Amino acid sequence: MEKPDIIIIGAGVIGLSIAIALSAKNRNIIVIEKEKSFGQGASSRNSEIIHSGIYYKKDSLKARLCIEGRELLYQFCREHDIPHRRPGKLIVATNDKEALELGKLIDNGKGNGVEELRLLGREEIKKIEPAVNALAAIYSPLTGIVDTHQLMKRLQRIAENRGVIFAYGCEVIGIDKEKELYRVRIADIDGEDMTLSTRILINSAGLYSERIAKMAGIDTTKNHYKLYYSKGEYFRISNRKSGILNHLIYPTPEEASLGIHTVMDLDGGLKLGPNAYYTDKIDYDVDPAKREIFYRSAKRFLPFLELSDLSPDMAGVRAKLQAEGESERDFVISDEASKGFSGFINLIGIESPGLTASLAIAKYVESMV
Ligand SMILES: Cc1cc2nc3c(=O)[nH]c(=O)nc-3n(C[C@H](O)[C@H](O)[C@H](O)COP(=O)(O)OP(=O)(O)OC[C@H]3O[C@@H](n4cnc5c(N)ncnc54)[C@H](O)[C@@H]3O)c2cc1C
Repeated sequence: MEKPDIIIIGAGVIGLSIAIALSAKNRNIIVIEKEKSFGQGASSRNSEIIHSGIYYKKDSLKARLCIEGRELLYQFCREHDIPHRRPGKLIVATNDKEALELGKLIDNGKGNGVEELRLLGREEIKKIEPAVNALAAIYSPLTGIVDTHQLMKRLQRIAENRGVIFAYGCEVIGIDKEKELYRVRIADIDGEDMTLSTRILINSAGLYSERIAKMAGIDTTKNHYKLYYSKGEYFRISNRKSGILNHLIYPTPEEASLGIHTVMDLDGGLKLGPNAYYTDKIDYDVDPAKREIFYRSAKRFLPFLELSDLSPDMAGVRAKLQAEGESERDFVISDEASKGFSGFINLIGIESPGLTASLAIAKYVESMV
């Protein structure tokens, strides 16, 4: 297929979801992925949390697509037997200042249209989460967890059954625009080069999406598409403490991140993370020396934790449009026709809640194609 109708760059959860949405109509679609399999980037290095939509700015794409995507994702998981659970979450305050912040946060969530949010006091928290120390909390019953690998595996299978071709081990190394066509240059893992042409090109290359936009000729500085990397590390909590918590527990969010929180496996195992710091390079090492910092930040609200419970686990890297100290930016999901790039759709800065929003993002892209 040298001239597919659509080329999607990147087989993370976003590229896979878009492949499904676009393959419902009879089109020739190729997904090009540089790794040997789907979901080797941010999509397999995250907290696997289905967010309810509390944190994001009203009317932003993050808020709208998170809420729509959350319900689409629960429905998809039910219909396709994807392992998932809805334990709900508590965002806890351990002092008066944080309790005040919770008041603003719950208003923001309700303003976004998040259903069933409630403020709890110390006694109510003790009843549903006896192992947690907090004087107030926002209870978000719609927050859940999902097996991301199984989700992506199923997305890929459905797309393949509809005729989508997945080209793994194939890296996009150049894009030449010729009138209405994009000539996409690809190098495979054996060093062979090939070129495919398409009228519709979708850039869902995650951490490398700015690079792809540049390849096509978009001025990423002028258009504010520059990406910054923010790393997040996780520490596992010893199995001795599995089952001690009933809900996901988050602190009151900090300026630039949600704060180190608990992550729960579907089998009840617990992790702490992710922290957040800007870095120039993409690597997935976890610094064991950070154990003490993780311990101290969570001990405030998880008094049962011992330092010896924590061991290094995994790390992920966020694709952020805001530099350190800048205020939060929204997802860029842009049809670039107005910049002279008809048929080119860029998805840049798809950080959290990208997993939750994935199916809604795909619908949004479908409406542009
Ligand atoms: C630490 C962390 C925690 C998170 N927690 C959550 C959470 O709990 N809930 C939530 O909703 N979201 C969460 N997210 C966000 C979520 O993981 C992302 O929004 C989502 O995975 C983005 O998917 P993607 O497909 O855009 O990117 P990716 O999964 O990174 O996929 C992009 C793909 O493009 C491929 N690619 C790149 N360049 C090329 C090229 N030149 N040629 C071919 N292929 C290429 C890459 O190999 C990669 O497979 C978290 C993210 C991080 C980092």
